[in-house]
Amino acid sequence: MLKRCALAALVLFTPVLTRAETTVIRAGRLVDPETGRAAANQMIVVDGEKIAAVGANLAVPDGARVIDLSDLTVLPGLVDSHTHMGLTYKDVPENNYYYLTTVMDSTPLRAIQAASNGIQLLNSGFTVVRDLGNNALYTDTAHRVAIDQGWIPGPTVVNSGLIIGGKGGQFWPTPEMAKQHGIIYPEYLDADTHDEIIKAVRENMLFGAKVIKICVDCKPWGYSVEEMKLFISEAAKGGLKVAGHVQTPEGASRAIEAGIWSIEHGAALSEEHHKLMAKKGIFLASTDTPFTPYRATKEDGERNAQKLKSAWKNGVRITFSTDMDYYKTGNDMNRGELTINFLLTWKAAGIPNADILKAITLTGFECAQVEKERGPIKPGLYADLIAVRGNPLEDIDALRDVRFVMKEGLVFKQNGVMTPEKFFHAGPAKGWRKR
Ligand SMILES: [Zn+2]
Repeated sequence: MLKRCALAALVLFTPVLTRAETTVIRAGRLVDPETGRAAANQMIVVDGEKIAAVGANLAVPDGARVIDLSDLTVLPGLVDSHTHMGLTYKDVPENNYYYLTTVMDSTPLRAIQAASNGIQLLNSGFTVVRDLGNNALYTDTAHRVAIDQGWIPGPTVVNSGLIIGGKGGQFWPTPEMAKQHGIIYPEYLDADTHDEIIKAVRENMLFGAKVIKICVDCKPWGYSVEEMKLFISEAAKGGLKVAGHVQTPEGASRAIEAGIWSIEHGAALSEEHHKLMAKKGIFLASTDTPFTPYRATKEDGERNAQKLKSAWKNGVRITFSTDMDYYKTGNDMNRGELTINFLLTWKAAGIPNADILKAITLTGFECAQVEKERGPIKPGLYADLIAVRGNPLEDIDALRDVRFVMKEGLVFKQNGVMTPEKFFHAGPAKGWRKR
């Protein structure tokens, strides 16, 4: 017994001291979005995939690699709480009519778009995203699994699988296309009755959804409070929450009454809705499109900023969210740049930088239900972190120029350049059981 212990101690002791995967990051500044403060000259010790220690003047373990970010500000990775990585509708050829995109872009093509978009998002510092449907036949699950198993780099994906709606989803198909050609599936999963609701939720969970996304009111009849409660209780059996697409004030009222986890899109919400959401702790992913040369009108941008301001003022759990799923010919911004450009709305709403930072990190981690595993820069959690020039607490636009990205202890970007070699593997290096 003694001998075994001594041997075990030797085996454990020697490699730990010389393990190549221990990394020490020297941060010129470390931002804590929880307190809205930055501490100077901090060190972060990363052991393998996880953070081992955080503090000033820590000892550098023997053999540890040191990454010097002493001229940068380190902070947690960013979150987009509502995006669609496997959908890109365009001005040409489909005139931004995504019904046509779903006809023209196959599931495999959309999976490849998702992989590319995930890399572009990680390049802009987004380490967690909720991918909420319109991803053809479960490209979102395949994308999540490919990242989790270690085939390709990308953000941690919390995916919804197919959006569940009453017959038709968000489409208004002709009878021929709906009944003879099944045009709605796989873009939407029809569920009009109690049995169909239960079946649809279970089917999504079986095929890898990590959150259930429903159309609350895509049709004038929509879902009732009682039906939404059924969604919520059925999803809870698999440990999942329900995110609701909302586009009418009545739909918003019903979703809030049912106690939905998050409301997607904020345009239909009134201040009264915001007050009720704050009271019930319902997350808001309001997808606040700014006015830009490539999207929206000035009035849209102003309205979105006003709505967001009301949500913030009333204490709603606001997240940074975009609904980013389009491309304009000739615009050379990538998906990451297009996503972070939604800061325009947050600035127009006059929301303090510390609160924007909280929304784009902590509240996002909570909405995605990952905060116990990853997000905050704390010992025991996955080493997901980014670094920027300047101080985002003073100038939120500092987030637009991400110089460094680490995901699960691996460096994805350094000195402003993607260095993703270590993320590519010839097999499921992180385990085929990740599903
Ligand atoms: Zn959306």
